[in-house]
Amino acid sequence: MASPTRDTPNTGRTARPKQRRGEGQWALGYREPLNPNERSKKDDHPLNVRDRIENIYAHRGFDSIDPGDLRGRFRWYGLYTQRKPGIDGGRTATLEPEELDDEYFMLRVRLDGGALTTTQLALLGEISQTYARDTADITDRQNIQYHWIRIEDMPTIWQKLEDAGMTTMEACGDSPRVILGSPVAGIAADEVIDATPAIEEIKRRYVGDPAFANLPRKFKSAISGLPDVAHEVHDIAFVGANHPEHGPGFDLWVGGGLSTNPMIGQRLGTWVPLDEVPEVWAGVISIFRDYGYRRLRHRARIKFLVKDWGAAKFREVLENEYLKRSLIDGPAPEVPEVPIDHVGTHRQHDGNYYVGAAPVAGRVSGSTLLAVAKAAERAGSAQVRLTPQQKLVVLDVPESELDGLRTELGELGLQTEPSPWRRGVMACTGIEFCKLAIVETKARAQDLVDDLERRLADIQSDVDKPVSVHLNGCPNSCARIQTADIGLKGQIVTDAGGNQVEGFQVHLGGGLGLDAGFGRKLRGHKVTSAELTDYVERIVRNFVAKRTEGERFAQ
Ligand code: SF4
Repeated sequence: MASPTRDTPNTGRTARPKQRRGEGQWALGYREPLNPNERSKKDDHPLNVRDRIENIYAHRGFDSIDPGDLRGRFRWYGLYTQRKPGIDGGRTATLEPEELDDEYFMLRVRLDGGALTTTQLALLGEISQTYARDTADITDRQNIQYHWIRIEDMPTIWQKLEDAGMTTMEACGDSPRVILGSPVAGIAADEVIDATPAIEEIKRRYVGDPAFANLPRKFKSAISGLPDVAHEVHDIAFVGANHPEHGPGFDLWVGGGLSTNPMIGQRLGTWVPLDEVPEVWAGVISIFRDYGYRRLRHRARIKFLVKDWGAAKFREVLENEYLKRSLIDGPAPEVPEVPIDHVGTHRQHDGNYYVGAAPVAGRVSGSTLLAVAKAAERAGSAQVRLTPQQKLVVLDVPESELDGLRTELGELGLQTEPSPWRRGVMACTGIEFCKLAIVETKARAQDLVDDLERRLADIQSDVDKPVSVHLNGCPNSCARIQTADIGLKGQIVTDAGGNQVEGFQVHLGGGLGLDAGFGRKLRGHKVTSAELTDYVERIVRNFVAKRTEGERFAQ
């Protein structure tokens, strides 16, 4: 890997005439930092911070950390300060960052494609037990997220992770984050193509490359031979598609994203063969680096550039300025009727089986990860994958071992035939650890699942497809609320007694796949956390009672 530099190079192209008002695009000559984040990245390349952590902060402790590193550059190595315990959500927006900072960290381990050997999974469990108070969450980006990490332990944690082929590099920050991939890549009977070689090659060539480590903001990628990675809401996505002449390859999407101003990605109408995916990925991320808007953070995602340019111009710039060749036109991928989550028992193309299991909203523990690794090995498997729906999948299980494995997973709280609610619930980190949060999410999700399983047992068999209920702790969309059947955005609401309490703005009828689109935010449609179960129960009962034959929730 090349050494970080203080700044990334311009493309050397002639600056174009300036637009009405500069948006901070490097390729148009706006090289001076236009906000504190850009200034911080120019002052010192974020990848340089690792040396300071290992050689200074880990020895001198939390109080020695430079604020610019603490709240900025640490992210390039997956580190965020976690929220100080006991600060209620109503105060989130009123406190200074240092008042919210705990001296412990959240640490994200990037697991591209969600792929793990059982040895790696066991190590993740052991690290959690030793350094993270046994915490571990499966995120909807196929990462493992720890809490309660001390800066003093980071050198040892990195050494252990890297010895086992794992990393936290660019797990966060304005960089190419973890690449989502199919949890059943290479073993699914119905995949168009195995994307694993492309994911591995991008990671090998570009993750940690200083040339792509100072982007306008984060860059989220998904590459899958199946439409099982929420490709519609990624900065870039390659989705398996069969070309009538050239065979299996990928359809390219750009400019999707959630949070405020959610947008569905646009197809560029191209077919990309497997071995060209890394080059095309590098072309698109280069456009983002060079033409992306850096002046305002809330406009610094590629979706705004794609919206302004349109798909045709974006493709033209990609072909003419970056690839120096034309791309092949290609077809759209097939669209699944409901998003694929891989929960349950499924036959692989080699005759073995994979078994998908559902923790509630990704909340597990180090001990659970360790136990899953052992259970998988007892069942003859050496591979486990995490999913973009906060679930996990054990691969390569012989038929004779299925019952034993399913029993063991069930005893760990990982059901392989879960109720529609357990299967469809996702939640972000929330107020327990996140400094931006306004409300509790993970524990709320657990309560909701327990309550709904009890209250809706009489109609469970009538709900043949999972009803997705996604909970966010704030207006960001870490749990993809806009694409859920029932999306819940955390905020302070007024209860019947006029009190300010935790609650949610409701978004109804969002979806992916056939129903790709964003849920409707109904004016005044808010619910307190205490009323949440009543509300969801009412909605689901109403849907089951009134739906027409074959109708999906999002229709
Ligand atoms: Fe934190 Fe908000 Fe993201 Fe939840 S949605 S993890 S509260 S930033």
